[in-house]
Amino acid sequence: MAPASKVYAHEEDIEELEESSVQFQALERRVLELLREAGEKGVLQRELWKKLDVDSRKGLKILRKLESQGLIAKEQVVYKGRKTYVLKLAKEAEEVQIPGFLEEIPCFFCPFLHKCASGERDIYSCAILQEWLNKDD
Ligand code: SF4
Repeated sequence: MAPASKVYAHEEDIEELEESSVQFQALERRVLELLREAGEKGVLQRELWKKLDVDSRKGLKILRKLESQGLIAKEQVVYKGRKTYVLKLAKEAEEVQIPGFLEEIPCFFCPFLHKCASGERDIYSCAILQEWLNKDD
């Protein structure tokens, strides 16, 4: 009997998969909602982890992505004697109002949208899109 072959995935591939997951995208949207609700006073980074129920590793990944898209702003502060950040919605993000029915479509929040639009990725084999299309509600 032939030994079972092992498949090794690169760490970047796993991270890319995680960042394109429906759960990750839902968390990104939740961050933006929370920051929008907080307004000018913003949210302490550590409070954000609690509200999202995620660890700092995952939380930082989400923030890095939103920051690179110019959607959030970070301000360093000292809180209870320790350096941390207050997070706010970037001015540009405050102005973007996506109609409710479009917020449901995963492609609008997907980091691979440009690849699908250019044909580099095949939308027909996208599990995220299929899952959304097959949803009952
Ligand atoms: S079809 Fe493309 S843009 Fe839409 S969710 Fe899938 S990978 Fe993202």
